[in-house]
Amino acid sequence: QKQEWAKLKNEPTLSADGEQVELAANIGTPDDVIGVLDNGGEGVGLYRTEFLYMGKSQLPTEEEQFTAYKSVLEQMDGKPVVVRTLDIGGDKELNYLDLPNELNPFLGFRAIRFCLENEQVFRPQLRALLRASVYGNLKIMFPMIATLEEFRQAKAILMDEKEALLQEGKEVSDHIEIGIMVEIPSTAVIAKQFAKEVDFFSIGTNDLIQYTMAADRMNEQVSYLYQPYHPAILNLINNVIEAAHSEDKWVGMCGEMAGDAIAIPILLGLGLDEFSMSATSILPARTQIRELDKGKLASYKDQLLSMSTAEEVVQFIKEKTE
Ligand code: PEP
Ligand code: MG
Repeated sequence: QKQEWAKLKNEPTLSADGEQVELAANIGTPDDVIGVLDNGGEGVGLYRTEFLYMGKSQLPTEEEQFTAYKSVLEQMDGKPVVVRTLDIGGDKELNYLDLPNELNPFLGFRAIRFCLENEQVFRPQLRALLRASVYGNLKIMFPMIATLEEFRQAKAILMDEKEALLQEGKEVSDHIEIGIMVEIPSTAVIAKQFAKEVDFFSIGTNDLIQYTMAADRMNEQVSYLYQPYHPAILNLINNVIEAAHSEDKWVGMCGEMAGDAIAIPILLGLGLDEFSMSATSILPARTQIRELDKGKLASYKDQLLSMSTAEEVVQFIKEKTE
């Protein structure tokens, strides 16, 4: 089976009826890029930049960050690279930042909420990204966006830093796409309004499921509620994809669900454009998609979205893809 997969390493990802999607990888460090290319990744769909900040005694400098981002972009050689700005807080702590102890860290002061309040941390990251942008195909993504104001504010700071760099005579790419993660239900619900302002969406199902089902993703006692195939989740995903496509924007997914063999036919049918997963899942996913008829899967959409339970969804999709 490994040999069969390897044959597809340099092939595009096409469904049985000839529809193309992109299979990208999630990475945490520049060293991960080798694995992405070895496994036939067509891009990086999520570069989690937290690792630059973790396991150290102080913030990474702009220069350190620039070096890391440039390395990833150069190694990817023009293929798309989606870098997520700092998503700290929640379960990810930084002892040197003295973050508050919170009763509900997952509902608290994390990610973009922290960055917008701490521009001295946010701006160097944005500058490093902008400076690195000339070395490849960079897309910048903000995490944990709950309101349009947050997106506008983050984008304004980014534009401000871009202007400052240009004033300093530095080069910055002209075609950096700016997108958001959809991991909070409020954003999934009004995706239509967001779609007019963002360049792309990437659905973060790890958090979107936890927030939609109100089930802590780390708590085993409520893990029975953590249901990727729940019709509520599928309806939110569909809402985001329809909203994006009506504005000619693309939608990816970078949560675990994107690499899941049961989810893949559902997501393909809903029209997801980019699937970002761990590198080792890419070739199995490409193999699977080549057997799937996207048009046929799309025709099940209304039926799937009106189902009542996750179990019904799973039963149905297993039957249809056997
Ligand atoms: C997600 O929430 O789906 C996601 C990809 O982000 P993280 O797992 O880093 O929270
Ligand atoms: Mg998340």
